[in-house]
This record gives sequence, C-alpha cells and structure tokens, in this order.
Amino acid sequence: MKKTPAKWAYGAAIQFQPPSRSVHTTFLHCSASDVASHDDVSVMREWHLDRGWDDVGYHYFITKQGNIQEGRPVSKVPAAQGGNNTGTIAICCHGLLIEKFTQQQYTSVRALCTAIRDAYSGKGVTMRFRGHCEVSSKTCPVYNYRQVLGLDAQGYMTGNPNPVPAPPTPPPKTPGGPVDIGMTDSGKEVVEVQTLLNRHGADLTVDGKFGQKTAAAVRAFQEQKGLPVTGSVDDKTLAALRKPPAQVPSAPPATGGGGVLKEGAKGPAVQALQRALNARGAKLTVDGHFGPNTKTAVINFQRSRGLSPDGIVGPKTKSALGLR
Ligand SMILES: [Zn+2]
Repeated sequence: MKKTPAKWAYGAAIQFQPPSRSVHTTFLHCSASDVASHDDVSVMREWHLDRGWDDVGYHYFITKQGNIQEGRPVSKVPAAQGGNNTGTIAICCHGLLIEKFTQQQYTSVRALCTAIRDAYSGKGVTMRFRGHCEVSSKTCPVYNYRQVLGLDAQGYMTGNPNPVPAPPTPPPKTPGGPVDIGMTDSGKEVVEVQTLLNRHGADLTVDGKFGQKTAAAVRAFQEQKGLPVTGSVDDKTLAALRKPPAQVPSAPPATGGGGVLKEGAKGPAVQALQRALNARGAKLTVDGHFGPNTKTAVINFQRSRGLSPDGIVGPKTKSALGLR
C-alpha cells in the first residue's frame, strides 16, 4: 500500500487556508472499513476512481494514527453527501466499528474542525458541523462526532468538551418504503444482502455490516445484471438478488486427485474446503490458502464429528464435509 505523506501529522499545528468558494458546513464521514491496508487516502481515491469519479470524494482523511492526509483539493466541491455537497467540506476518518476509532483520530478531527471553524469565523462565517447520517439513512460517521467536537443540537461548536446530546438516530426506514441499503448500514437487511450476494458468487463474511467489500460486491453484481452501478441496494437490485442465480457455479474438484489437504496447501481444492467449512459455521476468507485459521476450523469440525482432530483433511474428513 502507498503511504501518503500527512498534510498535518498527528499533533502538528494546523494552518487551514479556507478556499474561495463559499462554505457553510463541514460533514463528518467514516471509511466504513477497519482494514489496516485501507488506512490511507490513496485507497479511498482508488475506490472513488473505480466509481468513475475524477478524484477521492473527501477533502481530508484521518488515519488510525491521527495523521491528516489531503484528499481532493478543498477548493473543489466534495462528492460525499449526495445532494448536499455544495458549500461543504468533507472529512473522513478511517473506521467502521465504533470501538475501533482511535483517540488520535478524535484529537485530530477535533483539531482540524477547530482550525476550520477559526478560519471561517475570521471571515464572519459560523461553521456548522454535521454527520453524514443527518442527511442520509446511513450511520456514517459511526463515532459520536457531537461529543468529540462538543456540538450543540444545531451542530455548532460549543467549546464544551463534555458530552452533549446523544448521537442522532438515523431516520427509521418505513416498512414498505423504497429499499436503500448501503454503506455503513448494519443489521438483518445487510445479512440478507450479504447472504444473497454470496449465493451469486461473492465471498463476503456475513457479518451484517455494510462496508466497502459489500459495496464492491454489490457494484459487481449490478454491473453483471445491467443495473445502475451504485454500490447500494435499491428495490431493483434486491429483487435481482432474490432471484436464484442463473447458473449455480459448480464447485471445483476438491483435491484434483484425491490427495490429503493440510496446512500450507493452496488452490481451488482449499477454496472448496474453506467454503464447505464456512457452510458449517466457520468464518474463513475463501482465499485458497490453507493457513492456521483454516486448520483451526478443520480441527473444530473434526471434533464436532468425532473425527481425530489433527487438522489434516484426509478421506474421512473430506467425506464428512461432502468433498470429493
Ligand atoms: Zn459518509
């Protein structure tokens, strides 16, 4: 992964230069990923270029270590809050699960927002700070930005470091209303989407959390079905997902010759093994590499079937797993 140099390293003084376009609101986002290799603005840029945009949608990206990286130039309008981009600045913290945001990120987002506020108050503008969740049905930015920034109910900084109001709850989804399942959504709808995507050939961990991997799988599915490629699940995408796949991809031969599979093995036979273990409750990445996690899953499976738990997939384990 490229390591983009920080515009402002963690703890550095922030000299924020306001752009000449008029700005009234700063929006807070998260990357919807906790994957370490995604912890860089260059990765966000790739994701956004993949969507056909001309640059990353955010102006600033804050890594887990609290370094602030520059995204698109702040002179440009962001592409971050559909329908609410004009007059805004967009800041993204790398993260998805609330417990995985770091104190360094909180310190840096507070420092950056304070610098933005101060720069604008010099221009007679009182900057407002809002979460993406306030203008969408998403939970983005996930962390309690009101508390971190000390915001009042309207989104203005109070200078009070103490907790202010509870985080806003996303607007309830009307039953029977239009379907819109996308980034940072979580829950049983997402579980269904992930399960259906897997049935159509994706290899997602079914964790009920809609992150970048799920969005990528949705985009691939939409492309394949000739649907608008949005990365979010709308009515049409959901209907298409619920149809059984045209062709169930047949599993590749498990071993290519009836051999034994053990730690260190690679290839389609290992993928078939990982899928078979996942179908029985394991949570393996189907990468075709028989590593320690796969071995543990084999041992657990062998124990559950009264087979000798040696982590080696021989004829008995294979037949118990339904593998050839
Ligand atoms: Zn967002």
